[in-house]
Amino acid sequence: MPWDNSPAKRAASEATYGPEYRTNRAIARRRARGRCEQCHHLHSRLEADHIVPRSQGGTHHHTNLRMLCKGEGTCKCHDTKTAGEGGGYRKPNDPEPVTRTEW
Ligand SMILES: [Zn+2]
Ligand SMILES: [Zn+2]
Repeated sequence: MPWDNSPAKRAASEATYGPEYRTNRAIARRRARGRCEQCHHLHSRLEADHIVPRSQGGTHHHTNLRMLCKGEGTCKCHDTKTAGEGGGYRKPNDPEPVTRTEW
């Protein structure tokens, strides 16, 4: 598994997010099927992103989560998105892009 499972990290993320977030992240991860939900490439490194940031009242529900690629060897969609946060990035009620024109 690519994510850090050290006890300290787990305790920290438990305090910040808790089981609701982890459950919904698992749903988002299955939904993405290894594909970044922004660039739509298959990337091995994906992270759950809050579409509406927590700082702007976004929830942990899976409809507010999407998997974005992050780090070396990807398009860094999550890094780009995080860097642009703070300026009203996206409206809460944007529809999910569920049309599957590729398949
Ligand atoms: Zn991406
Ligand atoms: Zn990509």
